Amino acid sequence: MSNVQNYDPDCLFCKIVRGDIPSDKVYEDELCYAFRDIDPQAPTHILVVPKTHIASCGAVTAENAGLVGYIFTVIAQIAAAEGLDKGWRVVSNVGPDGGQSVPHLHFHILGGRCLSGQMG
Ligand code: 5GP
Ligand code: ZN
Repeated sequence: MSNVQNYDPDCLFCKIVRGDIPSDKVYEDELCYAFRDIDPQAPTHILVVPKTHIASCGAVTAENAGLVGYIFTVIAQIAAAEGLDKGWRVVSNVGPDGGQSVPHLHFHILGGRCLSGQMG
C-alpha cells in the first residue's frame, strides 16, 4: 500500500494508488504510479498518475509543476522500457469536453500501433 497525499476517498485513482483497487502495475516510486489501462486503445496503453491527488492538467500550478515535469521523465523511461521505439503518444484529457472520466491527473501513454491522424 502507498501513502497518498490529499487522498480523496471518492477518487478511483487514489484508491488504485493505495492498492484498495487492484491494478496491473508497470512502475512505482515515491511520487508516481503507472498501470495498464483497463480498456486499452492501443497495444500499449499505460496510465501514469501522481500519488498526490491533483484533479487534472487544469490544476497544475507553480507549486506542483516540478512533480509534473518529473512525471514526464518517468513517462519517457516507461516508453523506452515498453520498447516503443517507433514512437508513441502522451495524452491528458481535461474536463468533460476534454473527455476526462477520472478527475485525478493522469497521462495516457499509447503506442504499439500507428496513431497518426487520430486526435479525437
Ligand atoms: P480519461 O477518460 O479520464 O482520460 O481516462 C481514464 C482512463 O481510466 C480510461 O482510459 C479508462 O479505461 C481507465 N480506467 C477506468 N477505470 C479503470 C480501472 O478501474 N482500472 C484501470 N486500470 N483503468 C481504468
Ligand atoms: Zn485521486
